[in-house]
Amino acid sequence: MTHVPVEKTGEARLRASLSKWSLALRRAPESKRPDDPRYISYDRIRLQDGRVIGRKKVILMSGGCSVPTCTMCPFTNENNYGLQARPEALVDQVARVLARTPDEPDYEVLALYNDGSFFAPREIPRDVQVVIARRVAAAGVRMLVVESLPQFVTLKSLRPFVAALGDVELEVGIGLQSSDDLVRETLVNTRVSRAAFERAVVAMRQLGVRPKIYLMIKPPLLTEAEAITDVVESVDYVRALGIEGVTLCPTRVSRDTVAWQLWNAGHYQPPNLWTVVEAVRRAHEAAAVRVACINLRGTDFESVFPDSCPECADRIVDGLVRYSETGDLSDLPRSCACRPALEPVALDRPAIVDRSLELLAPLAPSQP
Ligand code: SF4
Ligand SMILES: [Zn+2]
Repeated sequence: MTHVPVEKTGEARLRASLSKWSLALRRAPESKRPDDPRYISYDRIRLQDGRVIGRKKVILMSGGCSVPTCTMCPFTNENNYGLQARPEALVDQVARVLARTPDEPDYEVLALYNDGSFFAPREIPRDVQVVIARRVAAAGVRMLVVESLPQFVTLKSLRPFVAALGDVELEVGIGLQSSDDLVRETLVNTRVSRAAFERAVVAMRQLGVRPKIYLMIKPPLLTEAEAITDVVESVDYVRALGIEGVTLCPTRVSRDTVAWQLWNAGHYQPPNLWTVVEAVRRAHEAAAVRVACINLRGTDFESVFPDSCPECADRIVDGLVRYSETGDLSDLPRSCACRPALEPVALDRPAIVDRSLELLAPLAPSQP
């Protein structure tokens, strides 16, 4: 039988091209980084019942994400991506993280990130996941937070983990990024289907696990006006599934990512801070959201951050930080002379694909 090549659609070509480009930018470190958490911080968070409690946030030194195709993600620059990771080293890091010292701030919530998907067996073998859960339970933590792509969040992976956690509450952060298939699977270029996401939500609900959903504000190749529409529609989709916890992540541009290359070539800017404010205001009509403020002025790695003008930028960032704590829209600044007109526009998907392919042609590695 002769094989007749099927011509790819524009969207499929764009997705393949962005995946190839993203993966081509990933590099293993020249020498292995030590098996110590690459980030530890302490802060206080407000629970739904109004109580404020301590949180310890840890990013383990891992072998990185097993599907590192996302166009904005710099995590593989920070860990031992591409090198053989020893699962025992992860358990050892967790044990050290849990050993309380007298001068350590008190905390009840432990956020344990691995720069990828906690429940992906290629990143953390299933038996190691359970060992970590047992250690956390034995350490008297009240709530554990991990992150994972939804295809790994199944009854099979969750059940033994939840059982080993005992009374410890579990929250799983899922980077859905967008409810729009073109934006999520092609522009953000993440391997997340809506079907897998919805299945994960059902599995979590069945086992009493709390979902926390991350959505991006203005991924590469969207305009400011399209980005607002994308956020509002995505928040509506997540809320329709009965999910409360939504965090908006304004895109920051970090080295060795597709977003960085596009920015460098003058084809992309992180969202204007007024776009972030407008997206929050419009999303708030459904319910309060949180904003990932580390994406606004984080110091964890070099980035180009969302910005506006020197008159209002700090005011907006402060306002977004306050709003994320209070959920009160009056904490957001009203205006500034620099505020652009921000009317959301509908996503014209064929036009987005065509203009992105055109823009990528001289930049991205070519597709076979
Ligand atoms: S799935 Fe997460 S860790 Fe992996 S590349 Fe995407 S954003 Fe980064
Ligand atoms: Zn301004």
